[in-house]
Amino acid sequence: MAENCIFCRIVRGEIPSTTVYDSEEFIAFTDINPAAPVHLLVVPKRHIARLSEAVAEDEGLLGRFMLAIGEVVRKNNIGDYRLIINDGPGAGQTVFHLHAHILSGRQLGEKLL
Ligand code: AMP
Ligand code: ZN
Repeated sequence: MAENCIFCRIVRGEIPSTTVYDSEEFIAFTDINPAAPVHLLVVPKRHIARLSEAVAEDEGLLGRFMLAIGEVVRKNNIGDYRLIINDGPGAGQTVFHLHAHILSGRQLGEKLL
């Protein structure tokens, strides 16, 4: 837990969020500034600042993170979607608590890859 981390504060219930999924290890809520009609953030409750700071001991957590993303998508009937993880300021990361963006609800045609 990081005292002033905004996502840790959401996990602790100190900041409101529109929660769409909540399990022992993960929470998902709507992005406050959506970039698509469906824009969810999936967040491990344990504070890891960014993906490249994850270590071997986080292997299980990261695997369950991917499975939780699938569960969020199924439970919210999202269908096809794009998954984005920004890792570091140069990639546009602004909240330094690992999270995955789920984007859906419009044609995501501007493919980078
Ligand atoms: P990133 O740029 O990958 O770090 O993404 C951070 C995301 O968190 C941005 O899309 C913000 O709009 C979103 N965000 C920041 N504060 C909140 C909040 N209190 N509730 C929901 N989403 C937030
Ligand atoms: Zn945090």
